[in-house]
Amino acid sequence: MTFRTARDDLLAWRGAFPTDPYEADGPLRAILAGALPAERTAALEPVARAFGREVVQVVAPCALRYEHRAHLPELTRYDAVGRRVEQVAFDPDYHTAGAVVWGSGLVALTGLPGRAFEQATLLYLLSLEGEAGHACPAVCTIGLARALRRVASGEIRDRFLPPLLRTDYRTAERASQFLTEVQGGSDVGANETVADPRGDGSYALSGEKWFCSVADAQQFLVTARVPGGPPGTRGLGCFVMPRLVDGAPNGVTLRRLKDKLGTRGMASGEVDFDGAIAWPLGPVEHGFRTAVGVVLNTSRWMTAVGAAGMMRRSYLEASAYARHRRAFGSPIREFPAVRAILAQLRVSWLGALHLVFALTALEDRIDSGSADDEAVLYHRFLVNATKYACSVDATSAVRQAIEVLGGNGTIEEFSVLPRLYRDSIVYESWEGTHNVLVAQVLADLRRLPILEVVAGRLGQLCRSAGSLAGDRARAGLDRAVDEAERAVGDPDHGTRFFRHTLDRLIVVARAAYLLEAGQELAAEHLLAAPLPEPDAATAARVDALAEE
Ligand SMILES: Cc1cc2nc3c(=O)[nH]c(=O)nc-3n(C[C@H](O)[C@H](O)[C@H](O)COP(=O)(O)OP(=O)(O)OC[C@H]3O[C@@H](n4cnc5c(N)ncnc54)[C@H](O)[C@@H]3O)c2cc1C
Repeated sequence: MTFRTARDDLLAWRGAFPTDPYEADGPLRAILAGALPAERTAALEPVARAFGREVVQVVAPCALRYEHRAHLPELTRYDAVGRRVEQVAFDPDYHTAGAVVWGSGLVALTGLPGRAFEQATLLYLLSLEGEAGHACPAVCTIGLARALRRVASGEIRDRFLPPLLRTDYRTAERASQFLTEVQGGSDVGANETVADPRGDGSYALSGEKWFCSVADAQQFLVTARVPGGPPGTRGLGCFVMPRLVDGAPNGVTLRRLKDKLGTRGMASGEVDFDGAIAWPLGPVEHGFRTAVGVVLNTSRWMTAVGAAGMMRRSYLEASAYARHRRAFGSPIREFPAVRAILAQLRVSWLGALHLVFALTALEDRIDSGSADDEAVLYHRFLVNATKYACSVDATSAVRQAIEVLGGNGTIEEFSVLPRLYRDSIVYESWEGTHNVLVAQVLADLRRLPILEVVAGRLGQLCRSAGSLAGDRARAGLDRAVDEAERAVGDPDHGTRFFRHTLDRLIVVARAAYLLEAGQELAAEHLLAAPLPEPDAATAARVDALAEE
C-alpha cells in the first residue's frame, strides 16, 4: 500500500460521517415513530433534520476550535475603566455554536409541558459532538425553567422564566445550578451557604460554591441553608438569583475558572456570594425536593441522553474507520477481533438509546402531568439507574472506539474521540457519582414499592418477546430481583453488593427494551456479555451486528 492510498482511505473515512445524522439514525426514528402521535413526529422531524445538519456543519468545526486549550474561556474581572464585572470571555466560535443550539428550540421547548421526546432528540444529536460547550448550559437552563414553571409563584415565574425561553441566543438568558460546596458534592446536606430573609420575600445569600458550571449564566439556581431549618438537606432552600441587579454584579464574585479534564469549552468556576439577592423557588422548606425532584432529575435524564449520543458517535466513528482502514492487506473490519468490538459498540449504543428513550417517555408524561403513581415510581428508579449506567458505558464505548482507531484514536485533531473521552468521564461524576446513584436506588427500593414496579414492567416486556432471548432476560430478571430483595432486607449485604445487582437489573432492562423494539440480535449479545460463549452462534451474531 502506498502513502497515497492510505491517506485516501483516511479521507474516505472522514467523508463517511452522515451529513444528516437524524436521517441516518434508523433506530432513533423508529423509537419516535412508535412513541409519538403522527403530528408530533411530523413537527419534530424537520427541526431534528435541520439541527443535525447544523451540528455537523457549524457546531463541529466551532467546537474543534473553542475546545482547544489555546481558546478556552477566560475570566474577565474588570472592565476598561476598572469596574468589577465578573464576566467570562469566550472564543467567538463559542457563540456561533450557541446560536445554533438555542435557535433549535432545545431550551425554548421547556415552555410547553411534555416535550421531552423533542428535547431528548435534539440533545442526543448535539451530543454527537460531546458536551460541545453548550449541552450543559442548555440542560441547566431547562432545569431552572422547569422548576420555575412547576413550583415558582406567579410573580417569580413571570419575572425569570420568559428570558430563559428565548430562541435568540443574543437575548436569551442562560442558567446554572450551584449546589456543590468544597466540603462535598454528594453530601449536599453539608451545604453551609446561608440565606437570610430580607423581609420582602427575597433572601440575601452568603457563602461559597465550589463547582459552578455555566459561570457566565445570567440566572443561578442556588441551594442555601435557611434560618431555623433542620440540619441536613431538609434545612435547605432552593433559590433563583440574577447575576446582575441594576446592571451591577449581585454580590457575586467569580474566584477563578477551573482547568478541567473535559467539558472544557464551557466555563466552570468557583463562586463567592456576599449578600447576593435571591428569591425562593417554591416553598422554602421544600428546597431540596425542588433541587433534586425537578432540577437534578432533569439533569440526570439529560446526562444519560448525552451519553447515548456519545455512544452513537463512537459506533459511527469506529465502524466507518474499520471499513476504510487497511492492515495486512485488508480492511480491518475483516478481522474477527475488530468485528467483536464493533458488535459490542453497536449493542452498547442501541441498549443506551432504548433505555434513555424509555426514560424520556416517563419524563414526557410527568412533565405533562399525565403520569400515574406507578409511572412516577418507575421513573424514580429509571432516572438514577440510567444516568449511572449510560455515563459509565459511554466512557467504555469511547475507549473502545479509540482502540479501533489505533494510535490515530489518541490524536486530538484526528477525530472527536479524545474530546468525547474527556467529556464522558465528567458525565460520570456530575449530577451524581456512581456510588451515590446506586445508593439512592437502594434507599428508594427500601422505602417505596419500586421493586414490584420494576419487576412488573420488565417482566411484561420479557414475556411479550416470546423468544429464547426473552426467556433468558426473564431468568436474568428473576435472579436480579432475588438479589435486590436480599439487598433490601440485609443492609450490610446491600451496601456492599447492590452495585452488582443494579448492573444485572440494567442489563435486563436494556435487553427487554431491545426485544420490545425487535432488536433480537443485540438483546442476545447483551445478555451474553461480558464473556459470550466461544461458539459458532456467537460468531454469527457478531458478524451480523458488525455488518450493520
Ligand atoms: C466539570 C464539573 C462541573 C461541575 N459543575 C457543577 C455545577 O455546576 N454545580 C454543582 O452543584 N456541582 C457541579 N459539579 C460537582 C459535581 O456534582 C460533584 O463533583 C459530584 O456531585 C460529586 O461530588 P464531589 O466531587 O464532592 O465528590 P464526593 O462527594 O467527595 O465523592 C468522592 C467519592 O466518594 C464517593 N462517595 C460519596 N458519598 C458516598 C456514599 N455515601 N457511599 C459510597 N460512596 C460515596 C463518591 O461516589 C466518589 O467516588 C461539577 C463537577 C465537575 C467535574
